[in-house]
Amino acid sequence: MKRNLYYKIFFVALIPILLISIINFSQIEYFTQKQLQTIENTNAIQRVMIENRLKKTLTLIQRDLDILTNAYEVVEAVKYNDNDVLSIWGKKFLSTNDKIIFTDIHGVIISRAHDEFKFGDTLKPEFLNALQNNQYYSSLKSIDDTQLALLEAKPIKQYGELVVGYIIIAKHLDAAFINEITKGTNYTITTSNKETLFSIHLNNITYNEGTLGFELINNTQEKDLESVKNNILFYTLLLISVLIISLYQVIKKHLIAYSDFAQIVEHFTDDKITLKELIKQSDSFTKKHRKHEISAISNTVHTMAKQIDKTQSNLELLSQTDALTNISNRRKLNNILNDLTRQALRYHTHFSIMIIDIDHFKNINDEFGHQAGDEVLKKLANKLSSHIRESDYFGRYGGEEFVIICPNSTSVETILLAEKLRASTQNTEFCNNIKVTISIGVAEFNEHSLSLEELIRQADKNLYKAKRMGRNQVIG
Ligand code: GH3
Ligand code: MG
Ligand code: MG
Repeated sequence: MKRNLYYKIFFVALIPILLISIINFSQIEYFTQKQLQTIENTNAIQRVMIENRLKKTLTLIQRDLDILTNAYEVVEAVKYNDNDVLSIWGKKFLSTNDKIIFTDIHGVIISRAHDEFKFGDTLKPEFLNALQNNQYYSSLKSIDDTQLALLEAKPIKQYGELVVGYIIIAKHLDAAFINEITKGTNYTITTSNKETLFSIHLNNITYNEGTLGFELINNTQEKDLESVKNNILFYTLLLISVLIISLYQVIKKHLIAYSDFAQIVEHFTDDKITLKELIKQSDSFTKKHRKHEISAISNTVHTMAKQIDKTQSNLELLSQTDALTNISNRRKLNNILNDLTRQALRYHTHFSIMIIDIDHFKNINDEFGHQAGDEVLKKLANKLSSHIRESDYFGRYGGEEFVIICPNSTSVETILLAEKLRASTQNTEFCNNIKVTISIGVAEFNEHSLSLEELIRQADKNLYKAKRMGRNQVIG
């Protein structure tokens, strides 16, 4: 089924909707990406901020390590295991650090500046080993207890060459410290036992153990943005779907009738339906769509088709009717004869014809005038048609000649009818007391006959014979 108009309008309307939707979606996506980029940039700046704070802390620890390892008094105290001196020196640096430990070359602790009465114990061998192998030792590690700390250590050398012991400074990674370095950011610090988002990469500082990471503690901005984006997309999609469905329904309701009617008219133009069917279909269409504006058009087509049909019928009748007598003309008679001939040959039936000619008709014209002659022709036509059977065909063959066709009749039966007509005419009085006689030639067509021309020639021959034999006769 072709529904061109309907689909065309629907698609034409659909294109801008889809274009607007695509532009809308891409704009939302673009905006979201831009916003996410901005958030990511802010986060990156915050991470750099934290890194810088950490670096600064480490630099300060290393500065303290340098001061302590370079102090002559400290080197001497380590060398001679002087707990008191080391405790005094160490305490001076405890305001920014949590733990300061001095050990001898074997890892035996000489002094804990933060806990001056606890000493004489030894570092764990693996830790001592690590210290012995590094100029600087930097680690995330807990020392003495479970408190995780930024831990920096360095050998203490006499004259800058001979290692006499080690110094270890620890800065606890406690809540207060973490708060301090993450202040004003969306991050917190995570240690290796947690899943880390970003590893810390500090220049020139190697962590021998553990990993520092950043964890975003407040990422609601991204989540909010995502949910706003999803909401906009969802409602836009919903709106577009509703729009498309409504559009489809409205167009369907209003335009499908046009397409349906166009199809009826198209069928007529393509000769798929006749004029009569067009009349019928346009009528039922009008009734079915009475409330639709298309009914005005279909009704007009219906009326026009009816008028054409009427005119056509009139023309057909006119072309087959004799103007003077109002009976069938020669063309119509010929059509009937052709049809009957075909039927007779196909179904082995038969029919007969009679050609009727008015005797000496020329004299009537001459004596009473042409008009009176016309009157005689009209009245005779009337009279003859009143005598024939309903199944017979009657027409004017030309001039003052008439033909009667009698289907399924033999020439014998037809001669009987002809005789009746002849006798009746003889007794009829026409205008101006005119009296006429007629001569009739009869012939029969059956499957043995040669042709229609032969039949007419035969009837003509018999008519001529009737004329020769004195007129007012029937010959068959
Ligand atoms: P026949 O007995 O041999 O048939 O003699 P006829 O005079 O009837 O034959 P003919 O063929 O000589 O003349 C026919 C006449 O019919 C001639 C013509 O003027 C007349 N006629 C033919 N058509 C009409 C018509 O429509 N009206 C009138 N008034 N006369 C017509
Ligand atoms: Mg004649
Ligand atoms: Mg005549």
